[in-house]
Amino acid sequence: MQVFKFGGASVKSAEAVRNVAHIIQRFGTPTHLAVVVSAMGKTTNALEQLLNSYFAKSDWESQLHNIQQYHFEITKHLFPENHLIFKVLEYLFWQLKDNLLHKTNPEKYDESYDQVVCFGEIIATHIVSQFLQEQGIENEWVDIRNCIKTDTTWREGKVDFAWSEQLLKCEVLPILQEKIVVTQGFLGGTLGNKTTTLGREGSDYTASVLAYLLDAEKVTIWKDVPGILNADPKKVSNTQLYETLSYTEAAEMTFYGANVIHPKTIKPLANKNIPLYVRSFLEPHKAGTCIDGIASSQNTPTIIFKPNQVLLKFGIKDLAFITEENLSKILHIFTQTNAKIHLLQSSAVSLWIATDYQEHKIAKIIEFLHEEFTVLQTPNVQLLTVLYYHENTLQSVLPKFRLILEQKTEQTYRAVVREG
Ligand code: ASP
Ligand code: MG
Repeated sequence: MQVFKFGGASVKSAEAVRNVAHIIQRFGTPTHLAVVVSAMGKTTNALEQLLNSYFAKSDWESQLHNIQQYHFEITKHLFPENHLIFKVLEYLFWQLKDNLLHKTNPEKYDESYDQVVCFGEIIATHIVSQFLQEQGIENEWVDIRNCIKTDTTWREGKVDFAWSEQLLKCEVLPILQEKIVVTQGFLGGTLGNKTTTLGREGSDYTASVLAYLLDAEKVTIWKDVPGILNADPKKVSNTQLYETLSYTEAAEMTFYGANVIHPKTIKPLANKNIPLYVRSFLEPHKAGTCIDGIASSQNTPTIIFKPNQVLLKFGIKDLAFITEENLSKILHIFTQTNAKIHLLQSSAVSLWIATDYQEHKIAKIIEFLHEEFTVLQTPNVQLLTVLYYHENTLQSVLPKFRLILEQKTEQTYRAVVREG
């Protein structure tokens, strides 16, 4: 059994959906394949905005209309006029509106979010499943919310692996013996049958959880890049494609901010030694990158940017030195506010921490610490990590930035930089 995952870009238009069918026809088997699909194009962003506008009592109706238009337009180019899919879509959009009006509450923002934003994946999978069927690819649409069960951590649902395994083995495994399963990424369901989401860009993680629980042979993530590159081609010229990477290398890259695959994807696969392929849906004949337990990047320099960071500088009031006690006080507040520490450096009188720029968290940190420490903020910075760096790799990147802080070990270069 194997898992294919198609992200938003791979189903963003009618043409893209046709291409998905071609890829399945070309590579897939008519059985033992689970196809995980994300919301079409930028639909998740649009649904987030819809909810925010609804709560702000601004023009949400036209936004809903646009989302509906976008999906009907794609569907019109894929199906004959009187196809059943149009009724299905009408019903789904009615349901979306009903949820928006009756199942949301600004005081329960995160819970409301999941009940609305989930429709991106629900709608996309109905269209893809029906279209594959039209093309003669026997498949069954599965509502993953009945199979991947989570707690009620809205927007970051924690998967109950034991329970989900039982459900998947009962509900999904028998279908896979006979045909392809088409299902949603990103979604889960609670004990009380409410929808949860698994964190933005979480469809990769869904593919990995399915593979882990159903003992898949491999997972393929189809993307609009040729595989995993050693840098973002939008930022760095002359990028190199990794043919192979180890689980550890891939996990490390996602930790430092590489956004080719969701950070949580690697662990379940590594635990069962299931290889992960990252391949291009635009060039499906190419091999892409294979991530598994043995391969290695051959120490090719890897350049990774993590945007939207802030550098916080803590100093002791009354000119005292930074002690272990002070350090642990500050770190404790980061744990308490659930703020990530992406880089840390200390001197006699100061401590620097780079973290995500999230205003409410930073305000909390300052509130807790301002009596004992001075806190200076440097916003609008990025974190640059270069794994296996050479001087000439650094020279190819650094001149474009203003350097604010820098750290080096034998293999890893890290810096806080600002654009321009
Ligand atoms: N549609 C969701 C998002 O955009 C999940 C995903 O794409 O993986 O965050
Ligand atoms: Mg998406």
